[in-house]
Amino acid sequence: MSTTVFVSGATGFIAQHIVKLLLENNHKVVGSVRSAKKGEELTSSIKNAGLSADNFTFEVVEDIAAKGAFDEALKKHPQVTVFLHTASPFHFDVKDIKKDLIDPAVEGTTNALNAIKEYGSSVKKVVVTSSYATVSGFGELVTPGKTVDETSWNPITHEQALKDPMAGYIGSKKFAEKTVWDFIEQNKPQWQVSIINPVYVFGPQAFEVKDKSKLNTSNEIINSILKAGKDKDQPQQFAGYFIDVRDVAKAEIVAFEKEEAVDQRLILSEGPFTTDKILNILKKDFKQLELPTLDESKKINWDSTESIINNEKTKKILGFKFIDLEQSVDDTVAQILND
Ligand code: NAP
Repeated sequence: MSTTVFVSGATGFIAQHIVKLLLENNHKVVGSVRSAKKGEELTSSIKNAGLSADNFTFEVVEDIAAKGAFDEALKKHPQVTVFLHTASPFHFDVKDIKKDLIDPAVEGTTNALNAIKEYGSSVKKVVVTSSYATVSGFGELVTPGKTVDETSWNPITHEQALKDPMAGYIGSKKFAEKTVWDFIEQNKPQWQVSIINPVYVFGPQAFEVKDKSKLNTSNEIINSILKAGKDKDQPQQFAGYFIDVRDVAKAEIVAFEKEEAVDQRLILSEGPFTTDKILNILKKDFKQLELPTLDESKKINWDSTESIINNEKTKKILGFKFIDLEQSVDDTVAQILND
């Protein structure tokens, strides 16, 4: 059945895949973007990918943190039945952690929910893209080896979130997700909610890539290995869990289509990765590349930094197999090299 789906932050890495998949599934899409120029660019990317843009419109929401940010957009589209909230700052290049990360995440979520309450009378489903950052502690707040699942919460406090931009991002996601659950508790809305909690998201961009010098934050983990190889430099080393962006897009759709997903937190994780593991895939599958040799002393011992994820419940609800690390890395890099 065709529905009209509102996607906030439609120009984002994950959101573009959501928009693409929604259009491929014949849904109508209203995307919020920060400027008309960005909306027009997205519209031409959609057309260039061979999709019809007839089912896509955009509304400009310059700053999700501004009071009433989504009101006009929803007033104009009373036919919206599904609202997917993905817009939130995901970068660490900030001067003021509260103003640049926490406030837009939390206020943006509050503004979206208030607009739905006031003007989204047809809305039946709301899906909020939260993060695995809300599930597990990180850094000093992690208990390595401890199992976390859909009921777990990162213990990070407001004070701890102000420590550095990484902590600020993690806190921003936790406080934004808490905002959703509190809103539901207090307002008992007519719509139903699902929360998506992805780990690091890799995979190709949905549409053509104009600037490959800097990709979205999570894909820079892969891109930085390529850049380090070229520059005879060392990439920063990472360890964590990954999911492919195409699976995130699929999960967002399952989340509003399947009854079992209502009121659930869905932890999207295929499995662990380290910079070392990614490098080994690149060595095997892209023999032509000049690649860095990692500094052994900086290798991350994954077991001593990470929680263990049990997302069996999520996998059962979603009912599809996730793309593995090799495929995800290969497709990401092939696009960087070939587009
Ligand atoms: P992204 O490419 O940076 O997309 C973020 C989107 O939000 C962009 O469209 C951005 O617009 C918009 N946005 C940010 N701040 C805004 C503001 N103040 N006002 C209006 N729009 C604003 O990041 P992404 O990786 O796709 O992330 C999308 C969502 O997934 C975020 O909620 C993120 O926290 C979550 N997530 C991502 C990952 C991951 O590894 N990628 C993992 C877990 C959760 P502009 O680009 O125009 O600024």
